[in-house]
Amino acid sequence: MTITYAQELEQCYAAASRRDEFYVQEDVIYFDGNSLGLLSKRAENSLLAILDSWKTHGIDGWMQGDRPWFNLSEELGASMAPLIGAQPEEVIVTGSTTSNLHQLLATFFKPSKDRTKILADELNFPTDIYAIQSQLKLHGLDPAEHLIRVKSKDGQTLQTEDIIEAMTDDVAIVILSGVLYRSGQVLDMKKVTEAAHARGTLVGFDLCHSIGSIPHSLDDWNVDFAFWCNYKHLNGGPGATGGIYVNRQHFGVSPGLAGWFGSAKDRQFDMEHTFTPAEGAGALQMGTPHLLSSAPLIGSLELMNEVGMEAIRDRSLALTGYLQELIETELADYGFVVTSPKSEVERGGHVFAVHKEAARICKALKANGVIPDYRTPNGIRLAPVALYNTFEEVLETVNILKCIMEEEQYKQFQNKREVVA
Ligand SMILES: *Cc1c(COP(=O)(O)O)cnc(C)c1O
Repeated sequence: MTITYAQELEQCYAAASRRDEFYVQEDVIYFDGNSLGLLSKRAENSLLAILDSWKTHGIDGWMQGDRPWFNLSEELGASMAPLIGAQPEEVIVTGSTTSNLHQLLATFFKPSKDRTKILADELNFPTDIYAIQSQLKLHGLDPAEHLIRVKSKDGQTLQTEDIIEAMTDDVAIVILSGVLYRSGQVLDMKKVTEAAHARGTLVGFDLCHSIGSIPHSLDDWNVDFAFWCNYKHLNGGPGATGGIYVNRQHFGVSPGLAGWFGSAKDRQFDMEHTFTPAEGAGALQMGTPHLLSSAPLIGSLELMNEVGMEAIRDRSLALTGYLQELIETELADYGFVVTSPKSEVERGGHVFAVHKEAARICKALKANGVIPDYRTPNGIRLAPVALYNTFEEVLETVNILKCIMEEEQYKQFQNKREVVA
């Protein structure tokens, strides 16, 4: 519980710290990088560079300038590939988490007489569930019957055995998260994929909370497809363009929602009414890419690839481990219970603690300059991010929490969530 110990940890895991490269506000402890990552100077510069190419080249920016726009989505996909254990052509930067899931289900969900169901879980983020429900309806299938949700025994985590047990023969596709958005549990993606394939079922993962926070080996695990957003751990900025991974075994599959930017690059401007899809994941693009929402990723990915996922993961585990330990030793008496997994294999990039006064404790934290995430009904989500947060900030946050409880500061606020929480 000493500052000296926090400083020692800082020394030990210095390799992945790039705090100087980020816009970190003085007097603010930002523990919300898993909702919206902070702006780095490199991301800012790469966005300004794209604006500049618009300024100087106009329409010719598509093929001219330092980073021509026409191939940028493919190039960014290629720089993202090492973060998830994929090959360059298997990744494309496009769309949003939600639109990408729609595209992937439109492409890969082909219900047959005997296989009509989609397997998800009851802890998943609502938008994934809404997308699955609407895709089922488009096939004339009632979601009440055809969407199966793996149950959680403790309301926080999922057991691999329960997931596998739910994979009945009528399941066409399994859609799960790499890291659960509340408890931060890392799912055993390899084992789930093996089990699904043994039953002839496809598997797609939502990597929103796992890309940039844990390493992946999507190719080695033989995952069929994946999708994610880039504004969380990848620091791509609010509304940053998302991503899609398609295992090369599925190259050539016809996109469910075709559009001209999914064309083979050399054929796109033939302007023919017969669609010639690109070879790789790029085939799943639809219209003109959202370049201003992709541009910050140029700088951001350069930085992440320089540091590498291994060093990021080492520092992240040390930060979350330290935070969990401090909450358990210093705050248990005040009613805080850590529900993120203790084991390093199962722990993602954030810590989740529950408390019956969570909503107003989060407001008191903000009043004290700590930015957490409140998750209804009783969760406090804290993400000490490897690239820009420090061990001292972890210690300071726990001290502030202690003070909030000791002085009952939280009682000055209503125990109710804000509109955006
Ligand atoms: C953040 C998040 C989303 C967000 O979806 P968008 O389409 O990017 O708004 C979806 N799913 C999960 C699991 C998330 O954590």
